Amino acid sequence: MTTKQFGTVEQVASWRLCTGCGACVFACPENNIQLIDVPDQGIRPIANSAKCWKCGECVKVCPGIEVSHQSFNSQTIPQLRQAWGPVLEVWESYATNPEIRYKSSSGGVATALALFCLENEDMTGVLHIRANSEAPLQNISSFSKNREELLACAGSRYSPAAPCEKLDCIQEADSSCVFIGKPCDVVALRKSQAVNPELDAKVGLAISIFCAGTPATNATYNLIDALGVKPDEVEGLRYRGHGWPGMTTVKVKGNKQTYQMTYNESWGGILSKNIQIRCRLCPDGTGEFADISCGDPWYREIEPDEPGRSLVLVRTDHGHRILYKAMEAGYIELERAQPEVLAASQKSLLEKRQNLFGRLLAMRLMGIPVPHFEGFSLLSNWRNLSVSEKARSIAGTFRRIFQRNWRKPLKVLNATDFSAGRKNEK
Ligand SMILES: Cc1cc2nc3c(=O)[nH]c(=O)nc-3n(C[C@H](O)[C@H](O)[C@H](O)COP(=O)(O)OP(=O)(O)OC[C@H]3O[C@@H](n4cnc5c(N)ncnc54)[C@H](O)[C@@H]3O)c2cc1C
Repeated sequence: MTTKQFGTVEQVASWRLCTGCGACVFACPENNIQLIDVPDQGIRPIANSAKCWKCGECVKVCPGIEVSHQSFNSQTIPQLRQAWGPVLEVWESYATNPEIRYKSSSGGVATALALFCLENEDMTGVLHIRANSEAPLQNISSFSKNREELLACAGSRYSPAAPCEKLDCIQEADSSCVFIGKPCDVVALRKSQAVNPELDAKVGLAISIFCAGTPATNATYNLIDALGVKPDEVEGLRYRGHGWPGMTTVKVKGNKQTYQMTYNESWGGILSKNIQIRCRLCPDGTGEFADISCGDPWYREIEPDEPGRSLVLVRTDHGHRILYKAMEAGYIELERAQPEVLAASQKSLLEKRQNLFGRLLAMRLMGIPVPHFEGFSLLSNWRNLSVSEKARSIAGTFRRIFQRNWRKPLKVLNATDFSAGRKNEK
């Protein structure tokens, strides 16, 4: 079977190719798709098969099975195209507002730019995600309309999140809106725009955060378990932020005590070990389809108590205009960075891109459906690996295929297995 033969997103999920973005929920003309959080997989779609007439609208917007660059703007930096896609400018930046900078993940640029768009560009709202206050280990989509709501969403949530399930908030808004999400969420947004002119007309700015992959919810359970806390005791969980990168902090119900571990212990030691399978096949860790993308400038040691900074990539002319206007209006500070800073900051993302050709080859040889990628120079990236690294990327994938039984699809999920679905806030 090839991904071209997929008729429903449930088939995509059964072959472990779902990213959990939620765009299929918005695309389904019958409102027949609901999302559930499968603890050892991620957020996944389920549909009532009696109501599904396999129109394929959900598959059209799915970023899990196909991601293509049509062409590159000739102004993009040539030396970055092969490994990082279209980049017009590289900056180090931070929010000038100290509260935004402190509460955010790195420099708070994503939040500050969104606030600038609400306050100065006449945009109606910002679609992004935050912790679900009724189920604090899960995330929920949020359509923020003011500073307070934006700040409640600041910071990274290293657990499944599906901002695209609420694309209707953008489509039905009075004026254009900002979208913030992971690279795959932005691909889903762009695919949805391509088939939906009403939505397309309302997307005022797309911001991507860099992403090494989404850990399944089980990873968060492991995290709080390592801190000696039980899931139903948790009142709040912050993965990072409140400093740079900030501590992972769990607040327990009815107890003033907080439980903490460092970002390296939580991300490096626990969360990154449980990343969704589709994320391991992702060539786009830096939001190549966004107007602006933000990550961490990890190329140097961070001093204790150093305020946060973001590494900012301008990807489109529109992104360039908004970034400059936000700087002129005093929302962000900008310092020009050299293109080399990107590879020095994001070594693991580069490594993943270089290994991808070998991983996909091994899966194809075993007859496993793989995503179709265009414009990511996967073969040229792979050529940069040494012979032993190439061999490892193929052999390691074969090993995983057999150990984890990837040759067989997972059982298609159905509503009766997950009668509660995901908890929504009232
Ligand atoms: C799963 C994951 C993996 C990441 N991997 C890397 C990496 O490899 N390298 C790197 O440099 N940075 C990575 N980041 C991004 C980094 O953590 C910061 O989000 C980024 O630097 C932006 O910082 P900021 O201060 O500008 O954002 P903020 O101003 O804090 O805003 C963050 C925005 O991201 C949104 N958001 C948070 N979590 C999610 C999520 N899970 N899904 C969708 N939207 C979300 C929030 O709603 C908010 O709008 C990752 C983030 C996540 C969630």
